Amino acid sequence: MAAGSKEDRVLIAGAGPVGMVAALYLALHDVPVVVFEAGEDLAVDLRASTFHPPTLDMLDFFDGVNDELHEQGLVADTWQFRDRKTGPVVTWDMSLLAGDTNHPYRLQAEQWKLTRALLKRLDQMPNAEIRFGHRVTDVSQTGDAVTFTAEAPGGTEHVTGRWGIGAEGANSAVRRALGIAYEGLTFPELFLTISTTFEFRDHWPDLTLVNYVTDPDEWLVLLRVVDAWRVLFPTKADEDKEEALSDERIQARLQSVVPSDTPYEVVHKTHYHVHQRVAEKYRSGRVLLAGDSAHINNPLGGMGMNGGIQDAFSLAEKLVGVWRGEADDAILDKYERQRRAMALDFVQQSTIRNRELIWEKDPAMRAKRHEELRRIADDREKARAFLLRSSMISGLRESEAID
Ligand SMILES: Cc1cc2nc3c(=O)[nH]c(=O)nc-3n(C[C@H](O)[C@H](O)[C@H](O)COP(=O)(O)OP(=O)(O)OC[C@H]3O[C@@H](n4cnc5c(N)ncnc54)[C@H](O)[C@@H]3O)c2cc1C
Repeated sequence: MAAGSKEDRVLIAGAGPVGMVAALYLALHDVPVVVFEAGEDLAVDLRASTFHPPTLDMLDFFDGVNDELHEQGLVADTWQFRDRKTGPVVTWDMSLLAGDTNHPYRLQAEQWKLTRALLKRLDQMPNAEIRFGHRVTDVSQTGDAVTFTAEAPGGTEHVTGRWGIGAEGANSAVRRALGIAYEGLTFPELFLTISTTFEFRDHWPDLTLVNYVTDPDEWLVLLRVVDAWRVLFPTKADEDKEEALSDERIQARLQSVVPSDTPYEVVHKTHYHVHQRVAEKYRSGRVLLAGDSAHINNPLGGMGMNGGIQDAFSLAEKLVGVWRGEADDAILDKYERQRRAMALDFVQQSTIRNRELIWEKDPAMRAKRHEELRRIADDREKARAFLLRSSMISGLRESEAID
């Protein structure tokens, strides 16, 4: 492929947070990009709503994006681990991370607020093109080019570029086309997310904006976003999926958390399968995977989107080096080594441990674990180490040290 030709560009499948971060980073470094998005517009789905400190540190790179997110979000400088029956076990103080990050807090803002802010900027860039209504279905490559096949409103398109990125989520067509296995497991229970305008703080005034509520029968997570509480429950393994979403069952579930004289106002509800999977490799020749197309985990700890955005920065930065001839393309194998280690050794382990911790059924083990958390919280250095892990800072540091 001739340098500087029309096809000398990076093709990106998916305009989720990961594809859009990669696209803007590349475009700002004079790398032309084409993003293919199956939807007619950006998804406005209620999925990730927590940005961890290192992700916010990275997003500082994009002029004004963090300002927009903060204007539309809530700063959670504490978060809580609590027992459903007895109340707070530990309230973590994120200011302990003041020396480790420019953002010693979790920012509560929905992921679509980020993609909108990124799209606004990409729309201004002559070297970035977003093709909505384009579903990537296949990928092929030669020694110096990649071709994406996409189903588009006008029929099938074959679009060629120099590099390709699969960032189109867990069902990644790119990953499938490359024959890359997505190893791991799917949990038997579904997770149920309900958004309600009910103010839990009127009943539990000591609640923070992010609360992991442990219980041997039914744990829950209470997350505040600007205009609602999001409540996450597991369903029982044998519970009927549709019934779990019925108004009656949802009201009963919420009433069992805090009884209310009037029905809860429910503004959104959904359920989904939860997986723990990591792609067997992140690179196949000129095509790379990032975000949910490369790894997926349970949402306890809020690490999926954060890990994906961190992938996007790591990959885009390395790709810029290769594009400019300043780095050998072997650096893209380092991307795989670093980010796959982050997913396998850190995110998967942390989220699986979080699920075990919140759902511990044995009373003696629950008491022991809660006591252990209190001991950590009472020791400043141990608490800081704990927060470095739960905020993804130590995992990131360790993975970036991999050569
Ligand atoms: C209920 C819930 C809560 C969560 N909470 C958190 C949290 O608090 N913090 C956190 O870090 N993570 C959280 N996550 C995970 C987070 O939502 C995902 O990790 C994140 O969306 C991954 O981003 P992505 O860009 O890789 O993929 P996606 O967000 O899935 O975006 C992929 C995009 O690609 C498009 N697409 C799909 N197929 C194709 C195709 N073939 N061709 C072209 N386009 C295609 C889709 O329309 C979509 O726009 C949560 C997930 C769930 C389900």
